Amino acid sequence: MRIPYLLILGFGIFINSVIVAQESEEIERINMVNRQLIARGIKDPSTLEAMRVVPRHKFVPNKIVKQAYNDHALPIGNDQTISQPYIVAFMTESLKLSPTDKVLEIGTGSGYQAAVLAKMVSSVYTIEIIKNLAYSAIGRLDSLGYNNVMVKWGDGYHGWPEEAPFDAIMVTAGAEEVPKPLISQLKNGGRMVIPVDDKDGGTYLIRLTKHDEKLKKEILAPVRFVPFTRDKRNH
Ligand code: SAH
Repeated sequence: MRIPYLLILGFGIFINSVIVAQESEEIERINMVNRQLIARGIKDPSTLEAMRVVPRHKFVPNKIVKQAYNDHALPIGNDQTISQPYIVAFMTESLKLSPTDKVLEIGTGSGYQAAVLAKMVSSVYTIEIIKNLAYSAIGRLDSLGYNNVMVKWGDGYHGWPEEAPFDAIMVTAGAEEVPKPLISQLKNGGRMVIPVDDKDGGTYLIRLTKHDEKLKKEILAPVRFVPFTRDKRNH
């Protein structure tokens, strides 16, 4: 009689600790949204809601999982990083998304930014140039149930012509110039957010809005990003 009782007790404690852990991650996310995002001026309700629900700790390597909700970027392997939560929120808000939008992201990395977008729009297409990262993001997004995200391994410079045009495009690597194919894959009225290097060695996040084949350019903020690379299929 004693063994089943101990088993049940043990199972109870186990389930209880899983629930407590889940709650503590939820609390970390609420604190992250309040202290890092709202406090710094992020206002878009749907961006804030997505950041409250997407489990960022599932997108970082196990050994640094405790730092998942910290106020900085984190390494994700292959010399790449998952952006700081504030930058993810700022770029997302800057795209001025609607629930029916079709969005292209260049630089899948961990898949976290794609997951945030997936909570807010109807479909997300994302391209990653490093094979390892592309395939782990596919597995991760799949196991977390993000079935409106399509991931492709390739050079995002060329965009995703078969799926164009897009309502919004986000590039999450610092580019020397705005790739021309991405401009042509933007819908009329579409928005693109991209970090671009300037002549003085700085990188600025800019927003391009397409109106009747004309582009409006706004400089949003100075930023730091891993570089946009080209056609390296030997990883
Ligand atoms: N959005 C990611 C973080 C991006 S880090 C996340 O949420 O985790 C930038 C990513 O862009 C890196 O993974 C890098 O490999 C990728 N990248 C760089 N140049 C690229 C290109 N030309 N096409 C596609 N991906 C590229």
